[in-house]
Amino acid sequence: MAEFTFELNDDQKQVRDWLNGFAKDVMRPAAAEWDEREETPWPVIQEAAKVGIYSLDFYAQQFFDPTGLGIPMALEELFWGDAGIGLSIVGTGLAAVGVLANGTEEQIGTWIPQMYGDADDVKVAAFCSSEPDAGSDVGAMRTRAVYDEAKDEWVLNGTKTWATNGGIANVHVVVAVVDAEIGSKGHASFIVPPNTPGLSQGQKFKKHGIRASHTAEVVLENVRVPGHCLLGGKDKLDERLARARERAATSGGERVKNAAMATFEASRPAVGAMAVGTARAAYEVALDYAKTRSQFGRPIIDNQGIAFQLADMRTQIDAARLLVWRASWMAAAGKPFDSAEGSMSKLYASETAKKVTAQAVQILGGNGYTREYPVERMHRDAAIYTIFEGTSEIQRLVIARTLSGMPIR
Ligand SMILES: Cc1cc2nc3c(=O)[nH]c(=O)nc-3n(C[C@H](O)[C@H](O)[C@H](O)COP(=O)(O)OP(=O)(O)OC[C@H]3O[C@@H](n4cnc5c(N)ncnc54)[C@H](O)[C@@H]3O)c2cc1C
Repeated sequence: MAEFTFELNDDQKQVRDWLNGFAKDVMRPAAAEWDEREETPWPVIQEAAKVGIYSLDFYAQQFFDPTGLGIPMALEELFWGDAGIGLSIVGTGLAAVGVLANGTEEQIGTWIPQMYGDADDVKVAAFCSSEPDAGSDVGAMRTRAVYDEAKDEWVLNGTKTWATNGGIANVHVVVAVVDAEIGSKGHASFIVPPNTPGLSQGQKFKKHGIRASHTAEVVLENVRVPGHCLLGGKDKLDERLARARERAATSGGERVKNAAMATFEASRPAVGAMAVGTARAAYEVALDYAKTRSQFGRPIIDNQGIAFQLADMRTQIDAARLLVWRASWMAAAGKPFDSAEGSMSKLYASETAKKVTAQAVQILGGNGYTREYPVERMHRDAAIYTIFEGTSEIQRLVIARTLSGMPIR
């Protein structure tokens, strides 16, 4: 009979403890400062690069962990350290995954090293998909990529928004429309190399939380990139477009749209793991506080009203982690998300993080409401998880559609 265990193996425990040490000793002491500064914490990223946490190799190793738990375990620890700095460290990964998923071997080998740089000269990368009028509705994307055959160049025009590391990235990965007739199947991804004319940073957003992570608009004005910057190459794109056009003509647009949604589904447990990290961090502060803060002559945890909240918080965090691990294990084992398990894990973990961090603020009373204690920041940070990589409403839509097979709106 196949072995079944919830225990991490020795290698995984070693990596987890190492990351936990970095999160505790390097990220946590820097968290409040970079949150206040609302700037990319370059020295911390550099430190992460020096010890090997900020590198493609590290994430590739975790990705290829056959149990599927390498990535969620790593993300939980880093985001337990701090969500804003955590996103600054792993944000480049979004763009790297875009290249790994769609690029040729040559593109992977050329661009990913330029995304990370090295410990002496760290770089970041940005993945630019969202637009002012195309957030949840990816199909409404307007940024166009037009092929200039004479020069073998693609010309990109449009405005991207909410791009993590947008404008400060060495390499931008930009999703653009190449065929507007077939919805999101008519999209393609392009590398915009360092210092390409026409790409500029628009507004940098002042945010509620994860303030150490840079988020900005990216404006593309006649940005010309060489033909080899189309991820996957022109032949593959032409084949894919021909197939999609044929399918759209025979089975209607809905099926085309659903296939795209299935792709997003796969990356969602990673955000769930980040949310678990933030929730666990806030819960631990609250538990400690409840045991040491006395009112009416006894620790506040002596009141069921507080103790039961902590019991629920911990139960929900563990449940969230199990959903994230299930989805991650399924993805690694090549099992399809027939019941939208990826979306379930992201939905539950992100809502849990929002709830648990709010409860932590309440348990710390007045102190919870100040920046003297980290739960105030964690509560602000947690709000992002129900928004990016598909809002909670979109997760519910995906789950409901998957379960029912109906085009629920
Ligand atoms: C800090 C941050 C970092 C980000 N990083 C990136 C990045 O690196 N790259 C990138 O491309 N994008 C990024 N995003 C964008 C993010 O993915 C979008 O914000 C998200 O997809 C939601 O889009 P929107 O903000 O336009 O909201 P909208 O789509 O306008 O949604 C507004 C509200 O309407 C609800 N809603 C929309 N449609 C439906 C529906 N059919 N049914 C029910 N409710 C609905 C939503 O759930 C939400 O509550 C980032 C966003 C933030 C805030």
